[in-house]
Amino acid sequence: MILQVQRVSKTYRTAGKNVQALKEASLQVSAGELLAVHGPSGCGKSTLLLCCGGLLGHDDGGQITVDGLNPYSLDHRQRAAFRAEKVGFVFQQFHLIPYLDVLDNVLAASIARSPSASRERAMSLLERVGMRDRMQHLPGELSVGERQRVALARAVLNDPPLILADEPTGNLDPENAHVVFQTLRDYAENGKAVLLVTHERGLLSAVHRALRLHRGRLE
Ligand code: ADP
Repeated sequence: MILQVQRVSKTYRTAGKNVQALKEASLQVSAGELLAVHGPSGCGKSTLLLCCGGLLGHDDGGQITVDGLNPYSLDHRQRAAFRAEKVGFVFQQFHLIPYLDVLDNVLAASIARSPSASRERAMSLLERVGMRDRMQHLPGELSVGERQRVALARAVLNDPPLILADEPTGNLDPENAHVVFQTLRDYAENGKAVLLVTHERGLLSAVHRALRLHRGRLE
């Protein structure tokens, strides 16, 4: 099992009002599996992904492990290494660095010891998502679909056991959505785990398994 989430609860405490975003949520994603969690806006999807990626503490209880490691039991330095090595993130808004070209954006997160090997891998990943001939372009020169394909290559560069994807096809036309989705599924089928959250029910027919998140509870 690559991702284990056990009875995780998360409450946001802000100015006099508490919002319980996750209520004892449990799920597992095994090697080879693409799991989708779906539900309407505000049901807790992003919160779930942030908790799984070691980016948001869940002080109200529960336990998360990725590849056997609990990110919240690590110190600051170890947790940074955990995020670089164990998890790849894909967001609806891409988060590319505007002043780096496509190749350098993909390489920005590299943790490989050999720069040339990592350059080679970046180029082959860009080839796979159909972006190799755009390597020297800046993100601002690309369509949104192309930017998401670059973000995808960046997410898998370090070959992490887990990919977390937040509405990765939300802004894309059907053709680009298909490329992104297929890449995520292939990645899972090569022995990794992918957890994707979405409000689009149309995507669910193409995943291995789907769970519904309803007001912070998984069903
Ligand atoms: P989704 O991704 O499904 O739209 P979120 O995980 O973003 O849902 O949000 C779940 C709930 O938590 C919502 O009610 C939202 O308003 C609330 N929430 C999210 N982030 C914060 C925050 N930083 N502070 C307070 N409430 C938040």
